[in-house]
Amino acid sequence: MLNIVMFGAPGSGKGTQSDLIAARYSLMHFSTGDMLRAEIALKSAIGQQAQEFISKGNLVPDELIIDMIRQRIDGHEAEMNGFIFDGFPRTVAQAKALDALLQERNKKVHMMLDLQVEEDKLIERLLLRGITSGRSDDNMEVIKNRLDVYNSVTLPVMDYYKQTGRYTGINGSSTIEENFERIVNMIESVDAAYAGLAKQ
Ligand code: AMP
Repeated sequence: MLNIVMFGAPGSGKGTQSDLIAARYSLMHFSTGDMLRAEIALKSAIGQQAQEFISKGNLVPDELIIDMIRQRIDGHEAEMNGFIFDGFPRTVAQAKALDALLQERNKKVHMMLDLQVEEDKLIERLLLRGITSGRSDDNMEVIKNRLDVYNSVTLPVMDYYKQTGRYTGINGSSTIEENFERIVNMIESVDAAYAGLAKQ
């Protein structure tokens, strides 16, 4: 079993790398951002609640996010080797709730991978993505707020995982392939047994 929290600022490449890691190690990929955008597209009650926060670059309330994860976490054990949480937890309250949810199931987060990228590069990547993403939050004004929210509310989540010995920082400023190679090396250096989960 391998349960990973993928951490990093907006534009750090969390989604892209989580897709690659999920495929390599057969992990269930939970992206709270993707889940929320799907709810918005469905015009569900959750989507309607979330839209306002997302379009301004603010965080959606913890309770809504934690409920969404709680509803989806069960039922995948048999076919998968674990979970990769992407864009979650984003507050210390979410991190504590995730630990509790997993503990109730005799599971735990094995590691947080923090993709580190300089702010100039994050902005450049997000603006570039905005040209094709169609996302209401990939524009300069909202990007600035997302980075502020990340620095003030989300960064303490890193300390939470540091204090519990599960933190790993990774340079995420290179190409997708190079960053992925660094991540794989990091995962398998934490415990060589994780290499056995990889698809050949
Ligand atoms: P992302 O796709 O991860 O960049 O998330 C897009 C937006 O969805 C964020 O700016 C937040 O408004 C919202 N969001 C995603 N995940 C969370 C979370 N774990 N907690 C609160 N809000 C979230």
